[in-house]
Amino acid sequence: MTPREQGEPVGFIGLGNMGAPIAERLVAAGMKVHVYDLDAHANRRLAELGAIVESSAKAVADAAVTVCTCLPTIKASESAVFGANGASFGQRIRYFVEMSTVGPHAVRAAEARLAERRIATLDAPVSGGAAGVRAGTLAIMIAGPQDVRDAVRPILSVISSRIFEIGDAPGQAQTMKLVNNLLAAANMATSFEALALGVKLGLSPSKVAEVVNASSGRNSGMEDRKTGPILTRRFEGLGAISLLEKDIALAFDMAREAGFPVSALNAFTGMAKLWNAAVAQGMAGEDVTALIKVIEREAGVEVRG
Ligand code: NAD
Repeated sequence: MTPREQGEPVGFIGLGNMGAPIAERLVAAGMKVHVYDLDAHANRRLAELGAIVESSAKAVADAAVTVCTCLPTIKASESAVFGANGASFGQRIRYFVEMSTVGPHAVRAAEARLAERRIATLDAPVSGGAAGVRAGTLAIMIAGPQDVRDAVRPILSVISSRIFEIGDAPGQAQTMKLVNNLLAAANMATSFEALALGVKLGLSPSKVAEVVNASSGRNSGMEDRKTGPILTRRFEGLGAISLLEKDIALAFDMAREAGFPVSALNAFTGMAKLWNAAVAQGMAGEDVTALIKVIEREAGVEVRG
């Protein structure tokens, strides 16, 4: 029987841009979802939808055998799992599912510490944004021992049918996710430069997007959910620049450690400079689509629909 059929509760910690829609989907499927976020407003929203709000990460792990986290940084994840009142001290937790992007090191470190408490770790980062969650098309990359993958899969299947088995060792899914995110970040950087250049040369930005999306230049950086918030100048709905910049840094660290010379990553090094510039210009908390403002300021052009 699946956990859902058993009515077994699920724990979810971190109800931000990604975590909230994922937890909502579990609630909407009729599951009993125990949630916790530092932000009272995020908790209230989920409570209104039927989730049970707990007072700490530990309280979530006192209530649920499987506890997922979707947190912004390595520090936040460590604090939610191992800090005072962290999930690792819960009475019921047996499976820790790391859906945050924290890189392979952090997941392996968590796995080792949790194993001492007889808690298994599933490395399960995601890709596709809140829109992907709502459409049921989120990509979930999983790595962990076969029995752990099998135990947690019924819950993940409620979130999406696109579950990719990466390997037996936690950390491998994070590696996959970071390789993907280098490309996602590069796609946005190059697409936004193409939009700005097209506008400077007198083209309509919506026409540039339309034609590229039907031509050989098409890529995820030019898709409607990226260009829409630029053309309307709303710059919202995807996720913070700081999160993608964190992923780029983690990916470069990973390459260095593997002995892959950063000098062989010319294209990625170029696009990373743009994301670093956005953070240096105080834009860490802005939506990733606001990256185009860095290009616009330098080129003296505005991309508006
Ligand atoms: P977010 O900043 O929108 O949300 C993070 C949430 O975690 C916030 O509500 C915050 O209050 C909460 N939080 C922080 N520390 C906490 C703690 N110690 N205990 C409990 N709650 C805590 O971030 P997000 O966009 O939802 O991203 C979460 C993770 O998912 C990141 O690792 C990110 O890289 C990854 N991710 C994001 C996207 C996206 O499109 N936004 C896509 C794929 C993966």
